[in-house]
Amino acid sequence: MFYCTSCKRIVKDGGVCEFCASQQLKELKLDTPVNVVGTKLKGRVLKVSDDKVRLLIRDDSNNRFIKEYSYKELKKIL
Ligand SMILES: [Zn+2]
Repeated sequence: MFYCTSCKRIVKDGGVCEFCASQQLKELKLDTPVNVVGTKLKGRVLKVSDDKVRLLIRDDSNNRFIKEYSYKELKKIL
């Protein structure tokens, strides 16, 4: 998987961003911090498989848990 340096969305295939059509994509590496779009949840990438990204999430109360999301629900944090 990759992330778009323009809109910060996570995209599955390299080449062109499926959200904003930018060609400025970079490889999504493990431990990259991401946000779940539409929430305040932040996490780090633990594992990537098919359309899913497994995150280690830390919530406002500093609880940690692991959850999987579709890559379409995620955005890279600067
Ligand atoms: Zn984009």
